[in-house]
Amino acid sequence: MSERAYFDWNATAPLRPEARAAVLHALESGGNASSVHAEGRQARKLVEQAREQMARLVGAAAQNVIFTSGATEANGLALTPALEVAGRKTARDRLFVSAIEHPSVLAGGRFDADAVETLPVTGDGVVDLEALAKALTRAERPLVSVMLANNETGVIQPVAAIADIVHAANGLLHVDAVQGAGRIDCDMAALGADLMSLSSHKLGGPQGVGALVCRSDIHIAAPMIVGGGQERRLRAGTENVAGIAGFGAACVAANAARQADAARMAALRDRFEAELKAITPRAVVFGAAAARLPNTSLFAAPGLNAETAIISFDLNGIAVSSGSACSSGKVQMSSVLVAMAVAPELARGAVRVSLGWTTSEADLELLLNAWKRVASSLLKRRADAA
Ligand code: PMP
Repeated sequence: MSERAYFDWNATAPLRPEARAAVLHALESGGNASSVHAEGRQARKLVEQAREQMARLVGAAAQNVIFTSGATEANGLALTPALEVAGRKTARDRLFVSAIEHPSVLAGGRFDADAVETLPVTGDGVVDLEALAKALTRAERPLVSVMLANNETGVIQPVAAIADIVHAANGLLHVDAVQGAGRIDCDMAALGADLMSLSSHKLGGPQGVGALVCRSDIHIAAPMIVGGGQERRLRAGTENVAGIAGFGAACVAANAARQADAARMAALRDRFEAELKAITPRAVVFGAAAARLPNTSLFAAPGLNAETAIISFDLNGIAVSSGSACSSGKVQMSSVLVAMAVAPELARGAVRVSLGWTTSEADLELLLNAWKRVASSLLKRRADAA
């Protein structure tokens, strides 16, 4: 295969060598973490070590980490009315989710559909704080779910300010930190998050493992998966020891390299956007006026169709993704761009470029050369047809 470059890190990141080594070690050592014999104790040791490693990434105590099959499950586990605070049954009466959340949050978890409200965002893709404060007056004990950074635009949400508003309204705040973890600081206490979801594979760990981290005094009174007593009875089922071990190792590696990687990715991303504008002056970068993750760029050019652009990029050796969700062959408009009130003609052409720790200058050259070819053929074809 000719040279390729991967620019879809927000979909999934390649496995880090440290995570691969930890996965293989765990697979080879075997044992069920619930068994009392030496083999079982060895598996338990790997799980508990990973719990410490994961907790450190978000500044939490290890005992507050619940391992799950991924962030989708962690989001579902968190979003329940059955949350107890300091031993008191303080059922949440309403769930508020921002309009740009991941589908696993937008679905509303285990709340009745009529107890879920969607919060608007500004044109830059930032949660509207005034609308949030106003909405919370409609609940007595609200649960609010806002992501740390958006998967499509990379826009970072003002989580600490949101936490102040939520707590002043007797509420609890769940933060889906999947896209921020390992890229920006995600200390739970500094952000004011009461519950936080994470996913291993966005950090360079294996797919199919994630975690929900809860503030020490919060207890989830309604687990989703019941059976054995694993994960403090909050998530039954034999632990995915290898996945968990790989997740822990990825957290350590991501944390150690975070600042240097972020600076390097931001420089490459900024260069990409400058050259994108030079090649196609009418290109628009969504959320560019807001604080964004260092690795993400969601853009469109008038007349571009995302589906054909992505295929064309792929044929040119570049893996990127669309800002639109494709289902049953039809391109649906991205709900994130709809929430940002982007014109449908432009939103239909949104392409997401996301970088990671191995992205190089050479990769960027490949991306820019591909964009020159994609833009000249697709945008020219449109102009010819007009
Ligand atoms: N939240 C966000 C913001 C995501 O980007 C993703 C992954 N696309 C998820 C949740 C779901 O994570 P997982 O793949 O671990 O279920």
